[in-house]
Amino acid sequence: MKFLLLFFIFMVLLWQWRHAREEKVKHAMRKNAAPAAVVDMVQCAHCGLHLPAGDAVHQAKATYCSAAHALAQEHG
Ligand SMILES: [Zn+2]
Repeated sequence: MKFLLLFFIFMVLLWQWRHAREEKVKHAMRKNAAPAAVVDMVQCAHCGLHLPAGDAVHQAKATYCSAAHALAQEHG
């Protein structure tokens, strides 16, 4: 009976240790993911749409959401 009690305590401690470790890993992952989630946003000079800088059309004077809007803005 004493052995069973010790075994039970051991299992609880093991569970708590694993739980604490998982929380730590989750926390570290969230910390690492944060900078990657921040994307440089730019605004289309024609329609005002916000989009990631990587997807934007960059012209000498301004940034646009598409080639069509770049053309539309520069040719009236
Ligand atoms: Zn646009």
